[in-house]
Amino acid sequence: MMSRNIKLVLTSSRILTPTSIEPRPGTIEIDNDGHIVSILSNKSSFESYNFLDKSQFLDVGENVIMPGVVDIHVHLNEPGRTHWEGFETGTKAAAAGGVTTVIDMPLNSIPPTTTVENLEHKIESAKGKCWVDVGFYGGVIPGNHNDLIPLIDSGVKGFKCFLIESGVDEFPCVNEQQVRLAYEKLQGKNSVFMFHAEMEDSQKEITNENMRVDKDLDNMQSNLFTKFLNSRPSSLELNAISLIIRIAKEFPTVRTHIVHLSTAQAIDIICKAKSEGIPLTVETCFHYLCLNAEEVQLGRTDFKCCPPIRDESNREELWKALLDGTIDYVVSDHSPCTADLKFLDKKTEDRDFLKAWGGISSLQFGLPVLWTEARKRGCGFHHLNTWLSKNTSKQIKLGNRKGEIKVGYDADFVIWAPEETFTVLNDIIQFKNKVTPYEDKVLYGVIKKTIVRGNIVYDVENGGVVDKPKGELLI
Ligand SMILES: [Zn+2]
Repeated sequence: MMSRNIKLVLTSSRILTPTSIEPRPGTIEIDNDGHIVSILSNKSSFESYNFLDKSQFLDVGENVIMPGVVDIHVHLNEPGRTHWEGFETGTKAAAAGGVTTVIDMPLNSIPPTTTVENLEHKIESAKGKCWVDVGFYGGVIPGNHNDLIPLIDSGVKGFKCFLIESGVDEFPCVNEQQVRLAYEKLQGKNSVFMFHAEMEDSQKEITNENMRVDKDLDNMQSNLFTKFLNSRPSSLELNAISLIIRIAKEFPTVRTHIVHLSTAQAIDIICKAKSEGIPLTVETCFHYLCLNAEEVQLGRTDFKCCPPIRDESNREELWKALLDGTIDYVVSDHSPCTADLKFLDKKTEDRDFLKAWGGISSLQFGLPVLWTEARKRGCGFHHLNTWLSKNTSKQIKLGNRKGEIKVGYDADFVIWAPEETFTVLNDIIQFKNKVTPYEDKVLYGVIKKTIVRGNIVYDVENGGVVDKPKGELLI
């Protein structure tokens, strides 16, 4: 036994390793560098580790030990919109939710991550404020094609662009020609090019102007979710995805990715593209799998996101596509804002769905939200591992060190009680603006501890989120 080098030992009757689809009893030994050095297939007692301090040996009983959640679609908004979210509050929410790695999207911070200089600005803002590991994507906007390779060299994990107005002025959308230019730059670089896949039929940009409520319309109508839903039909996603697949075919050395798929109508063309060998991946979000349009009440602008949450039959189709592997993984797309931008300071009947900020906050609750739904469908912990950690880690080329419990991998874990329930009360929310459609919902899966590279960053029995940030920047 390499006694001197062991920093932490975890033992449980339920550990999920790649060798079994069901959790098994086991013991995990973690070294001083925060790596898993051995995995024993039996529970251990402190007596066999008496060279350790008691605090270095954790018998978590029946609680499940799984790889920490790797949520690779998160908007932390710092610098520039830190009143919406920030590295500190966002990563504390992550830690409280069993998330051990997040990847920050290039937009909603000011400046956006579209140049190396802007990335450096973001890195400076993040230093010393991260409770979990944090990486960054770059953005593709009109005119920054020459910044893409330098951004890859500076450590971005991929690129995101919009084919429709993004919601913020400093991150304009791109047209087909600009998309092609970006693909040319990214050829052979083993990066991933990600699309917000909504686009108007005519390929003309939807601007704030023509998204605005027609003044002649009954004002009440614009305050209903259905009015908003009709303004972002599935056809916008289908248009965008058809274009993306067409171009992706021409650039087979670039990995193409569709973020936050909402419409199930696109599943057939995605399936076909994948079967033709186009290097295409697809994600969906907790809210598309676990919420539906039918449950959105008057004034519940906290349910608004783009593309929108669609109807119940659509939700069922998304689940099928997730289970058959057409959808590769699930992310939060945590995209917070201040309460006034959701008009939550107004009466319910006065909250305009068309003008409210489109984004859902859920970073802290992804695992319980998905599990609450998945367990009803007979899914196992290995499904959660695949959708939340393994496939997301692979996507950002961290599959050789994160997303699975294997010797040599980072000791990133969520330790949780899947049979226990809790209520999403406002005062347990760690993210900055405590606005979420999951408020008051009862969820299965209580997070007990979150461990990042062998450091306990969240411990429900010990005050929750620890006092010092232990996260690293993945650059
Ligand atoms: Zn997003």
